[in-house]
Amino acid sequence: MTTSKRETLLPYGKQSIDEDDIQAVVSVLRSDYITQGPAIERFERKIADYVGAKYAVAFCNGTAALHGACYAAGIGPGDEVITTPVTFLASSNCVLYQGGTPVFADIDPDTYNMDPDAAEKAITSRTKAIIPVDLTGQPAEMERFSMLARDRGLVLIEDAAHSLGASYAGRKVGAWADMTMFSFHPVKHVTTGEGGVIATDSEEYRDRLQAFRSHGTTRDPEKLTRCDGPWYYEMQELGYNYRMTDLQAALGASQMGKLDRFVERRREIAQAYTAAFRDIPGLIVPKQHAAAESSWHLYVLRWDGEVLEGGRDRAFAELRDRNLGVQVHYIPIYRQPYYSERGYSEQAYPESERYYRTALSLPIFPAMSNDDVEYVVRSVRETAVLLGTLDK
Ligand SMILES: *Cc1c(COP(=O)(O)O)cnc(C)c1O
Repeated sequence: MTTSKRETLLPYGKQSIDEDDIQAVVSVLRSDYITQGPAIERFERKIADYVGAKYAVAFCNGTAALHGACYAAGIGPGDEVITTPVTFLASSNCVLYQGGTPVFADIDPDTYNMDPDAAEKAITSRTKAIIPVDLTGQPAEMERFSMLARDRGLVLIEDAAHSLGASYAGRKVGAWADMTMFSFHPVKHVTTGEGGVIATDSEEYRDRLQAFRSHGTTRDPEKLTRCDGPWYYEMQELGYNYRMTDLQAALGASQMGKLDRFVERRREIAQAYTAAFRDIPGLIVPKQHAAAESSWHLYVLRWDGEVLEGGRDRAFAELRDRNLGVQVHYIPIYRQPYYSERGYSEQAYPESERYYRTALSLPIFPAMSNDDVEYVVRSVRETAVLLGTLDK
């Protein structure tokens, strides 16, 4: 007997907002400052303390935060920055915003994160920074990347949009790189609607990031070239208005109190999936690096087209048909016309190509019920049977 189809779409990710989150936003709405007020610093302090960094600088979204990190790292025309092609567009677009050149390094076939050996081979005399991405919430090999950055004099910027709450070698993500970006989009671990942050131990980076999100202006008496009076400020660099509002910061601070619970629930769901799928021929469950403790932003199940007739593409259609909001994370960036027109080609990235042909993200978010998890498990099993037996 097959499972009957659920009535509503189960998305791959979704926010969890409670009454106390709503009250936190309402209290800011009733206060004097709805932007540029005290909620921002409170939120920044919460993030910095949680991840084990000295400072955190909030931005209006994670992409703007990455742009800020590239600016603070001094990336400009002629500079190369190495990152993975299997990521969201923002990880390499931030380099383009600064006039730099993204260089892609292929992925590790087990973790799907940037392969440190491939990254090392991609270093040239023009390389200025490396941007590892913690795909699905599993930290990249941060020990290797830290050593590589130190030995070769590169800035290490970690795209941790997926990995708030994750650890590598017992140390929280946010305490490894020169600058670490977290995103607060509603599918991420905690949300501010839109939002992002850079965590850093460097006072210099913090100052540059703060100026960058506010038109490149400063009021610091030690930095002013002159002072016309108490109203005076100076724009010394070109910046943007990339500020987060206090409404968002209050929501984020309230959500941070639930982060550990959210991550715990994501881990439970991932364990249930892996237990259910690991012995099904043709299905490849996620592997974890020994030092990595994932916070499970995504659960990527791979469908081997040699074993399962129609492979991922057919599984995608079948599961969507059962009202499961499965997704593909991600189309490798070099495949995007904007990039391929600028000389990037899929030939250079065989592991990313293999991954792209087979990967499918299943629903995983803290508010999923056990019935939802069970529905996903049954649907995947039935689809695997369908794809595996058709031509027999
Ligand atoms: C979400 C995300 C970002 C930042 O996205 P915003 O929507 O701008 O907050 C960056 N990199 C990755 C890998 C992401 O998933």
